[in-house]
Amino acid sequence: MTAGAIYGLVVVIVVLAGSIGVQAMRGKNVEYECQDCTARFSPSPILLALTPHRLGKKLLTCPQCGTRTWAVPVPK
Ligand SMILES: [Zn+2]
Repeated sequence: MTAGAIYGLVVVIVVLAGSIGVQAMRGKNVEYECQDCTARFSPSPILLALTPHRLGKKLLTCPQCGTRTWAVPVPK
């Protein structure tokens, strides 16, 4: 492995760890609402950091109805 590849890997890990930390802090005040059945749920910070997002919404699978939905963040 080259030094450049190792540096790239370190950057990815740091960004990912930071992202998980941000999601963990946000998760204390925010939960997500299913667009299909309006169930509210709190996914794990790791899942939130990894899942695709757009305009604050997260692509999540609803634990209640099983639909893959662009879940909307709502205050707890
Ligand atoms: Zn649902």
